[in-house]
Amino acid sequence: MSSSGVVARSAPQEAAWDAGVVAPLEFVRDGIWTVGIPMPPGPTPGGRIPCTLASIVADDAGGVHVVDPGSGSDENLGMLAEAIAGTGHRLDQVRSIIVTHLHHDHLGSAERLRNATRAPIVLHRAEQAALDRLAADRPTAAAERTRLTAWGVPVDRHPEILTLVGRSATPVSLQADVLVDDAQLLNVPGRRMRAVHTPGHTPGHLSLVDDDARLVFTGDHVSPVLHPGLGLGGDDGNNPVLQYQRSLRRIIELGVDEAVPGHGFRFVGLAQRCAEHARHHQQRTDEVVGVLASSPDASMFEIASRLTWSAGWEKLTGFSLRSALQQTAMHVDAVRTGSS
Ligand SMILES: [Zn+2]
Repeated sequence: MSSSGVVARSAPQEAAWDAGVVAPLEFVRDGIWTVGIPMPPGPTPGGRIPCTLASIVADDAGGVHVVDPGSGSDENLGMLAEAIAGTGHRLDQVRSIIVTHLHHDHLGSAERLRNATRAPIVLHRAEQAALDRLAADRPTAAAERTRLTAWGVPVDRHPEILTLVGRSATPVSLQADVLVDDAQLLNVPGRRMRAVHTPGHTPGHLSLVDDDARLVFTGDHVSPVLHPGLGLGGDDGNNPVLQYQRSLRRIIELGVDEAVPGHGFRFVGLAQRCAEHARHHQQRTDEVVGVLASSPDASMFEIASRLTWSAGWEKLTGFSLRSALQQTAMHVDAVRTGSS
């Protein structure tokens, strides 16, 4: 039993997570394997995350399909190729590369794997649009200054945030070969693998349900080890908090208990974990409602300063301050939109 209340279904993955090391190749069932692919160097959200869980899924026509090939490097592609060999398959049997969302630790190796196999990359339609927007709309210091002013951030706090502009990882410019929509069956012969559009973490986040294996691949939508951040794929005009809450209900409605997440370990208790994520974000929304009730004209900065932050408001500087303001703005918008 982990601290989150979910129950691990993979002892090796749970042990790897606890030790902060990369999870080994593991047989799940019925032609499904998972393997840890190392994260890129540098800080990760929620502390130390050693790896992304990539999945290898065999079809009944002699092919295999990779879900989330992991962060991009030649070493990582080599690890993935070794894992595919470990399942008794060859790289030239890869028939599709299915990516849950645009973050580098999931999508990064997709292009390399496509070059090595000529297999198509599969993304949700809204995620391709998000990728295109991120590549086109590079952030500018002027736009950021305008935003900080609108949020009421004191001028002496501007420099620590403005220095971040353009420092985040260059968005991947990538064109998927197959764009899928919600409820669409993926081209995995002999399997009923369905796309479930689960926006919130990113606008086109894709979860996958295998109806026969009774397994959901949740990407970063549901996690046994942390509460996923929201709105991390740019702005598509929808509120990520409201979308996320809806997406959690979508997963609960599937009625499937077991999940392969993007990080951590395979677990059971999927609906319960969705409810925990929902509560976590609802608590913040409720706090915002409370602040707005007593101070309807408070600036975003003032509202944020009155919310509960696990690190403590005073300790938030630079990136974590910017992130806290962004989250506050999403929740304020969710409250004002009115249907959270
Ligand atoms: Zn992510």
